[in-house]
Amino acid sequence: MNCYECVQQGRASEAVAVCRLCGAGVCADHVHSETIQVREPAQPGKVIHDQRARRLTCPVCRAAEESA
Ligand SMILES: [Zn+2]
Ligand SMILES: [Zn+2]
Repeated sequence: MNCYECVQQGRASEAVAVCRLCGAGVCADHVHSETIQVREPAQPGKVIHDQRARRLTCPVCRAAEESA
C-alpha cells in the first residue's frame, strides 16, 4: 500500500501505518503518532491503573480534529 497523502502529491511512498479514523495509508513522513491514556472505569476494590495506547492518524484527520 502507498501513502495516500504522497499519492495526492504525485509521489509514491510505502505506507507504514494506517489512519485509524479514515483508513488511509500513511508513510513515516505523514503519520501522526500520539500516545493517549485509556482510563478504565473505576470499580470498587480494584486498583485503577492507566494504560497507554497508541493512536495513528493522517494529516487530514489530525487537522480536522484540531479545528473541531
Ligand atoms: Zn506520505
Ligand atoms: Zn485519516
